[in-house]
Amino acid sequence: MRGERLADTPRWGAQQAKISSSEPIFLTEHVVIRLNAQFTRLVQRSLRSRDGLPYVDAQAFMMPFSVPGIGQQPHDFSAFTVSVTQSWPSSRGVVELRDGAPANSPAIRPNHLTTEDDKRFFIDAVRTVRAVLRTAPMDGVIAAEYQPGPGVVKDDEILDYVRQKANTIYHPCGTCRMGGDAESVVDASLRVRGVTGLRVADASIMPRITSGNINATCLMIGEKAADLILADYDSAMDN
Ligand SMILES: Cc1cc2nc3c(=O)[nH]c(=O)nc-3n(C[C@H](O)[C@H](O)[C@H](O)COP(=O)(O)OP(=O)(O)OC[C@H]3O[C@@H](n4cnc5c(N)ncnc54)[C@H](O)[C@@H]3O)c2cc1C
Repeated sequence: MRGERLADTPRWGAQQAKISSSEPIFLTEHVVIRLNAQFTRLVQRSLRSRDGLPYVDAQAFMMPFSVPGIGQQPHDFSAFTVSVTQSWPSSRGVVELRDGAPANSPAIRPNHLTTEDDKRFFIDAVRTVRAVLRTAPMDGVIAAEYQPGPGVVKDDEILDYVRQKANTIYHPCGTCRMGGDAESVVDASLRVRGVTGLRVADASIMPRITSGNINATCLMIGEKAADLILADYDSAMDN
């Protein structure tokens, strides 16, 4: 069994900058407040993966600390981290059973960064973050860029860095796409085509990934599924 069209939001690992003071109040005032304000303004205006998109297609995350990797202790210097996720990746992966043993975990291949649009998005994202960090409100805050570092400048260098550092923010969806066409897995009432009495009600039915984090949408899919099942039940009782 194989689920295709797996969509997931990749996050380019982190752009980390050492700051010029280790005072907590400095972090709060200069980094948290100013940088969040700058990102809210600039990203909503200009961070798009390609020209002509009607909406922004990125989220920026700012953390007032930096770590070498997930689950690891913070660095022993004062720093902050900015990362960007791609809201609408065009790369598609697969989920498939490895074998017939139900206890075995499936193979999940997200295939992040396999399309030119997605590669371009992250190259642009690194440059946009750098541009934001060079704006006037950040003057005097940053002592040095720690990662990717000043040696990472060209497209292929940036892409290589992103490939090494990028991970997921855990929004897999799309392998049981809802649609009106014969190729879709479930119909508009979440019924699996060709199988009687089976509905799918989770993130896999999304035809494409949502712009923001997907949990609220998953909850609404569950709510809608409950309504549909109850309506079927009521209708059967009436007949
Ligand atoms: C670490 C992490 C952080 C996240 N942070 C956010 C966030 O901040 N904001 C946000 O919007 N989204 C976030 N998400 C994404 C969000 O949690 C998921 O997109 C959402 O929960 C998916 O809903 P779902 O119903 O498709 O699947 P799930 O929530 O995974 O539900 C699947 C259910 O099926 C059950 N199950 C599995 N196998 C079987 C079986 N064989 N028999 C019976 N039951 C089974 C599981 O126990 C589970 O309860 C995060 C995800 C992760 C992993």
